[in-house]
Amino acid sequence: MSDLVLTGGIVVNETARDVADIAITGGRISGIGAPGTLGTASEVVDVSGLHLIPGAIDMHVHFREPGYTHKEDWETGSRAAAMGGVTTVFEMPNTNPPTRSVTEFRQKQDCARKSCVDFGIYGLLAEDNIDELEGLIDAGANAFKCFMGNTFGDLPSPSTGSMLEGFEIISGSGLRISLHAETASIMAWRQARLEAAGLNDPLHHIAARPEVVAIEAVARAAILAEWTGARIHVLHISSAGELRPLAEAKARGVEITGETCPCYLFLNSADYDRLGSVIRVNPPVREAKDSEAIWEALQTGVVDMIATDHAPHTPDEKRNDNIWKADCGFPGVETQMPLMLTEVAAGRMTLEHYVRISSANPARAFGMWPHKGRLAVGALADIAAVDLERDEVISADRLHSRGKVTPFEGRKTVGAPVHTLVRGAFVQRDRMIVEGMAGHGTQVSDIQAMPTPSPKNVDQSLASLLDVRP
Ligand SMILES: [Zn+2]
Repeated sequence: MSDLVLTGGIVVNETARDVADIAITGGRISGIGAPGTLGTASEVVDVSGLHLIPGAIDMHVHFREPGYTHKEDWETGSRAAAMGGVTTVFEMPNTNPPTRSVTEFRQKQDCARKSCVDFGIYGLLAEDNIDELEGLIDAGANAFKCFMGNTFGDLPSPSTGSMLEGFEIISGSGLRISLHAETASIMAWRQARLEAAGLNDPLHHIAARPEVVAIEAVARAAILAEWTGARIHVLHISSAGELRPLAEAKARGVEITGETCPCYLFLNSADYDRLGSVIRVNPPVREAKDSEAIWEALQTGVVDMIATDHAPHTPDEKRNDNIWKADCGFPGVETQMPLMLTEVAAGRMTLEHYVRISSANPARAFGMWPHKGRLAVGALADIAAVDLERDEVISADRLHSRGKVTPFEGRKTVGAPVHTLVRGAFVQRDRMIVEGMAGHGTQVSDIQAMPTPSPKNVDQSLASLLDVRP
């Protein structure tokens, strides 16, 4: 007898779909079979008319705790994820304090105990914590984040020298290094010149960060990854231009993946006038031609996955007549799936392909496959039950994030997750949060296993030259 059977739904994986029941026992899928064939269960839930997909895995969220809980905390952020069909999040280290040492990593783990969805925790790779990286690896960091460009928190962007040493150290662990791939020195120079000239309109935000900042950063990071054998991931791809160094690095065999976020697919420079400083995000929302190129790259696999860069702020922090004074980013973990399902409904992408980019590919890239990213016997029962015809309107007031400003305000969507299950338990049911699930989420270390690392040029690494580590 199983704990739960979901009956009558359409089970969708990245390559196929079938009408099938799913049985769940002990948090894992224990059976998939023709309707009515899976035997008895403690609970049977009729999901006729719904599509069951692997819960989304969002490699890029900022839950702001510790330090900025007026913007978000792990409880509100994970509830927003549950409402958005997101069953696993990887959380970024630009909190206060930043997640740059073992002590701070433990502090972040304490905060994350409130999460109702599964999670990974990023360790920081910065200019000033190279000697902490080994400790962070041993403490259980699930990936690393490197801010090549400054953003919220103003953590010091590493020089190319410290980045190389960081890549050398992390390459031995096999963990992936996610990059904010914009070059800080170019942006700082240009923003200072624009500010000094009194240029502070929303579109000047793009002018300070033309796509060359991303092109240069992706190309440079790929060279360091190729040299060291480190695995890297390009966060929030915003431009057509950076797709070329990404594709070229893949062709050379660099272990590189890339993500984009809904704002780069659904918004462009024509929206700056209407949205003002609300649209400010790093990297910036660019031109319509960039959106088109990124859509294409999502279809062809040059861009591997969709994430959200969920980055909540208060209305006062977001709204400012001077673009340089408005905080960057906005909430997204709850709205990604409805926005993308709207495109599925419109025929732009199959639901199977959406499963690939929202769940299967992130699971593979970050070592969680085959436990996550698919609905199959033995996998964890992380499931979004989606109604592909459900009409909704995005409204910040109704978002479960503490951040109540979104550039998607008023946008109509078609398709939404009506139930979300994490390890076999409902965390969202019938478009309502299931209360009492804080703490249900588990750090993915229990299932994460990265492929065997293959560090390169080890004999020239600083560690081998200085012989400072055992
Ligand atoms: Zn981010």
